[in-house]
Amino acid sequence: MFNESVMRTFVVAALVAGALSCTQPAPAPQAQRSPAAPAAQPLRWGMVIHTGAGNFTLASLGDRQEAMRAAMHDALMAGHRVLAGGGSSLDAVQGAIVIMEDSPLFNAGKGAVFTHEGTNELDASIMDGRTLQAGAVAGLTHIKNPIRLARLVMEKSPHVMMAGDGAEAFAKEQGGIEFVPPGYFYTERSWKALQSALEAEKKAAQVESHHGTVGAVALDQHGNLAAGTSTGGLTNKRFGRIGDSPIVGAGTYANNRNCAISSTGIGEFFIRYTVAHDICARVEYQKMPIQAAADSVIQGMLEPVGGEGGIIGLDAAGNVAMSFNVTGMGRGYIGSDGRAVIQFTADDAAAAKQP
Ligand code: ASP
Repeated sequence: MFNESVMRTFVVAALVAGALSCTQPAPAPQAQRSPAAPAAQPLRWGMVIHTGAGNFTLASLGDRQEAMRAAMHDALMAGHRVLAGGGSSLDAVQGAIVIMEDSPLFNAGKGAVFTHEGTNELDASIMDGRTLQAGAVAGLTHIKNPIRLARLVMEKSPHVMMAGDGAEAFAKEQGGIEFVPPGYFYTERSWKALQSALEAEKKAAQVESHHGTVGAVALDQHGNLAAGTSTGGLTNKRFGRIGDSPIVGAGTYANNRNCAISSTGIGEFFIRYTVAHDICARVEYQKMPIQAAADSVIQGMLEPVGGEGGIIGLDAAGNVAMSFNVTGMGRGYIGSDGRAVIQFTADDAAAAKQP
């Protein structure tokens, strides 16, 4: 079994930017305070998304920034259409995540990162804050949209989580889930990310990390919260490794009594600190505002132990939270006014606060 420092070395060496078009050196590690510029006013209803946290800058995102912004805008608008029509937060979360899974730009679905062996193993989960029903899938190799299968596990099985071949057999049995050959998940960017990780591993060096996992949380017009997360995991992962994204309470959590959270970052830390549930527990039991609860976990608990990453969240009153302990986290929100706000780094925050 790995001890903590061995595990951390393994994980850090294994992390590579989803953004390997980034040619700039990674910024020096620093104690980054989450700027988190959430909406000044609570949303009557709306949604928040993320596209992964990591040590990147706007310059290092380069040309990809505009394309990412456009895809995130599409995802927010898809969620907004569902919510504006009186649809459920679950449908909004799923709809937004499917769009991000179909984009090659993010580490989920089409753009999933590669394992050490050069395969792709996808994880996802979804949770209904009204019923506390949840569905999760892990280690998928042929499913185009893992979030759809997670939803099916939630709604059509007595189980919460299914993995690998079993999950895919369930998908076949149920029907309505699109299968793709493993080659579908090839992107040059993710392949290069694996090569860099393998090189870095040889030199025991650290490479820039931009995780690229996607997630969404939503509050619908009926006052119901939902959350979902989808990922290819960590570049260079081995031995059937599963991260936090499909783990209810770590990568995803939704409960109408407190909040909805989707996480991104080094999953091992998010699992051990049960991040998503811990934030919601602080909201409920300690009556903390959601942003303060998120900062106390992401910066107060995770940052000192090297648990890089962040979260997006919404509480039952429509307060938006965004918190991260690295230099950037792709993130956006939209409320009933239909105005989408999309940000990547700490510096974007100031601009978003303007009316
Ligand atoms: N949390 C994901 C995992 O550990 C990775 C990420 O968020 O980028 O699998």
